[in-house]
Amino acid sequence: MKILDILKKEELTKEDLLALMKIDNQEDLQLLFKKAYETKLKYIGNNVYYRGLVEFSNICIKNCKYCGIRKENSHVERFLMSEEDILQSAKWIYENDYGSMALQSGERTDKEFVDFVEKILKKIQKMTNNGLGITLSVGEQTYETYKRWREAGATRYLLRIETTNRDLFEKIHPKDETHNFDKRLQALKELRRAGYQVGTGVMIGIPGQTEEDLVNDIIFFKENDIDMIGMGPYILHDETPMGQEFKNNILSKEKRVELGLKMIAICRIYLKDINIAATTALQGLDPEGREKGLLAGANIIMPSATKTSERVKYQLYNGKPAINDDAEQGKKSLEKSLKNIGENIVYGKTGDSPHFFSRKK
Ligand code: SAH
Ligand code: SF4
Repeated sequence: MKILDILKKEELTKEDLLALMKIDNQEDLQLLFKKAYETKLKYIGNNVYYRGLVEFSNICIKNCKYCGIRKENSHVERFLMSEEDILQSAKWIYENDYGSMALQSGERTDKEFVDFVEKILKKIQKMTNNGLGITLSVGEQTYETYKRWREAGATRYLLRIETTNRDLFEKIHPKDETHNFDKRLQALKELRRAGYQVGTGVMIGIPGQTEEDLVNDIIFFKENDIDMIGMGPYILHDETPMGQEFKNNILSKEKRVELGLKMIAICRIYLKDINIAATTALQGLDPEGREKGLLAGANIIMPSATKTSERVKYQLYNGKPAINDDAEQGKKSLEKSLKNIGENIVYGKTGDSPHFFSRKK
């Protein structure tokens, strides 16, 4: 079947999704992006929402084989931002009308950390009169912890499944109880039960990952009724096991960006009213990656609001962009480039997932 005929269908089968994922020419690719953008216009409009990103700590108990801040990387200078600095960032995000913020860090499950995050959440919501949407992205926790943080003011939680191919998941993580595929699945269920808008996502272009794997990821998002998606290309980090193993054996940057854009587009067409982020990793491989992501159907941008001095230490992968831009400068240049592509930045609104609320009805 021709790509155009697939794109006209109301319901897509797995074979259809795979045909879209395997598009290998510019003409069909443009048709795919166009359809995705039309779908975005229909369900979301040409609106883009911001989440001011604060990467508040790079201390991590895990050893994911792809990640630059994994526990065993001894070259990393570890930090935890002070309460005061995090609140300062939150204030900046609030006063600049971003509407939402995302708090991200390495994973820790100790009591001190859990209490610290809870206290921060309460203080931010008090300071802003419950005026900010807050996304947490701080790894796997107990159900009680999810509950406590939800009650303290977090409304969304982003926990990527990384890949839904169990064998591949086990290849990119150490084989032990802290890196367990079934626990990860369970965590997503518990997040839903704890009342969050639930976000997940995958890395795209992992060595060994097939197009069918990526299609299965998209079907997984649908089956699990996911509200928001954050996904991006896999990028090497020199000081990691995978960064070493695959340094000469990885899809080209262009191919990984293209696959990332295809994933966004197919997710938009197939899942319709969810929030999809054009992530920093996309920008990491292509200076215009985020803009291309929006034109392929994404509607969320996560501009960094982390202090420049700490940003340097939060390196998940090589060449993370905008390490030296401060938040103020970043805001102006982003505004300009988004207006250039005809996107409407919605200031002062939380920009919650429409899908979450349609389920509640
Ligand atoms: N510790 C938390 C949040 C920080 S990591 C967690 O793991 O959930 C956030 C995301 O960064 C991960 O889910 C992973 O998908 C992504 N990431 C880590 N290393 C990466 C790399 N080398 N290339 C691309 N994305 C990476
Ligand atoms: Fe830690 Fe997250 Fe990196 Fe894994 S991906 S090592 S949990 S920061």
